[in-house]
Amino acid sequence: MAVATQQLSHVYPRGSFLDDRGHLHVGGCDVTELAHEFGTPAYLVAEDDLRARAREFKQAFAQLHPGPSQLVFATKAFPCTAVLRLFAEEGLGCDVASGGELALALKAGVDPKKIHLHGNAKSDEEIAYALASGIGDVVVDNLDDLEKLERLVPNGETQAVQVRVTPDVAGDTHAAISTGQADSKFGFGLDAARDVLAKIEASDKLDLTGLHAHIGSQLLQLDPFRRAVEAMATLGTEFRTVNVGGGLGVAYTRDQEPPRIADYARAKIEAVHEHFGTGVTIMDEPGRALVGNGAVTIYRVQSVKRNVSTWVGVDGGMSDNLRPMLYGAVYEAEVADRFGEGTPCKLVGKHCESGDVIIAAADLKDPRPGDVVVTPATGGYGYSMANNYNGQPRAPVVFCKDGDARVVVRRETYDDLLARDVA
Ligand SMILES: *Cc1c(COP(=O)(O)O)cnc(C)c1O
Repeated sequence: MAVATQQLSHVYPRGSFLDDRGHLHVGGCDVTELAHEFGTPAYLVAEDDLRARAREFKQAFAQLHPGPSQLVFATKAFPCTAVLRLFAEEGLGCDVASGGELALALKAGVDPKKIHLHGNAKSDEEIAYALASGIGDVVVDNLDDLEKLERLVPNGETQAVQVRVTPDVAGDTHAAISTGQADSKFGFGLDAARDVLAKIEASDKLDLTGLHAHIGSQLLQLDPFRRAVEAMATLGTEFRTVNVGGGLGVAYTRDQEPPRIADYARAKIEAVHEHFGTGVTIMDEPGRALVGNGAVTIYRVQSVKRNVSTWVGVDGGMSDNLRPMLYGAVYEAEVADRFGEGTPCKLVGKHCESGDVIIAAADLKDPRPGDVVVTPATGGYGYSMANNYNGQPRAPVVFCKDGDARVVVRRETYDDLLARDVA
């Protein structure tokens, strides 16, 4: 058993450490050895980290809210059955934003009643699939959703629905992941929501459970959450459920200090109590905060080039982590068995675009071809946005726990790349 000689920053999965030889361990496994065993790139998930965060969320809501609460993992943050199954085992439900995510959730064994369907452009097929699966709530995002539900819910049956509102509260985050502003593709403005609520009340097929608002992602301040609840309450306060969405940010670099889960829960719960009372069911939909810091990505260095800059080229990039290219997301990196600094460099992927830069201002310790490089905090929206650019087979997901590692999603093969060709 390796000896922990150095604890790491909160960017790494809980329980990660450097051993006496300076090797990074995640979930009790030597990351350099895992690179050898499973290949690179790969997503390494510390199973205990995910479970611990799920329990922290549950505990916070149970302690602070006397009424019922339901925690719902936002599937899109890490859409694979192993992750969904883990959270289901911890008692969480999940929200899905497509038929594909619903298929994953059902396959993972999530209780359909704890699955909720979102989306600003749901198709007839997706809604029919959700209805046939007996899911919990459908979150109505637009008038077309209403028309589809009225048509697709069988006569004599009812479907539980929530109404998604955009409370005109913008969190301080990148425009691409801000959703609470009035001019949004998601949900109804407050005035429009009043009409929709009246329409649902008049419907024989739709059973209104409550309101929903998700104002954005990677939020590092709590005040916008409070203001969103306050705005929701202008639509009335007699609802069975208030769904306050997700959005809690995580640390991508060691200098970032996101709010603690308990403080996030307290801010939302206090606002709900103030405006809707203590008996209401509170739903919360964390995605990134459950998985973001629980995983790291490993790469192998393929080339080190020096011109104006030093370019450290690895065997992945925008095919396994699109966030830096989509919204300038910033990450850290280390050589997995040689932590430290000394070589300012650009950590770049293998793809045929100059924009394929994973970290523009990395600082590695003497990086060389063959080294394993690790980027922490890749659990949220890494795997979910993976793609096959340049014919890159998508990376595997490896669960690590107590020194044991198991593949839960295997690496794609070249045959997989050909599997859909009709020739
Ligand atoms: C993306 C999303 C979430 C989760 O957001 P995080 O920032 O990952 O917590 C929750 N609810 C809805 C409706 C979403 O679209």
